[in-house]
Amino acid sequence: MYDNSMKIEFISKSQNESFARVSVAAFVSQLDPTLDELTDVKTAVSEAVTNSIIHGYENKEGIVKIEASIKGRELILIIEDNGIGIENIDVAMQPLYTSKPELERSGMGFTVMETFMDSLQVESEKNKGTRLIMKKVFNSLS
Ligand code: ATP
Ligand code: MG
Repeated sequence: MYDNSMKIEFISKSQNESFARVSVAAFVSQLDPTLDELTDVKTAVSEAVTNSIIHGYENKEGIVKIEASIKGRELILIIEDNGIGIENIDVAMQPLYTSKPELERSGMGFTVMETFMDSLQVESEKNKGTRLIMKKVFNSLS
């Protein structure tokens, strides 16, 4: 059903944020994205992976999974962790909401993901984990 797909898993270490960003960017390059499109996807991946590491696993060791699929000109990105989960998704997604103000987080991660991707869906269960599904259609080549 997809034209192409890939899956990666890595330990929840902050050093792997750039690995995740670059891996997804390399996969997406087959769509000949514009620089802006590529930056948008990399930023969304960074925000999602950072959230899994600092909120989901609270800096303890866990596994972050990324699945990326392409269908036509659409990228479907699934980023998930088996961390603490989100109690109230609606509240968590509000701009400026953060559960860690002491870490100087700005509470803008979800807003950034929503802005840079065409859609963002959040599924989460307390003590089970969190799964984000993001989609983005890339411009047709002119
Ligand atoms: P910023 O991203 O601006 O540094 P932030 O991470 O607090 O700040 P968001 O990324 O918008 O802001 O996330 C909002 C809140 O949702 C977080 O503070 C956290 O409570 C919760 N959250 C987000 N992702 C996860 C996750 N993977 N697991 C558990 N809680 C999460
Ligand atoms: Mg965040």
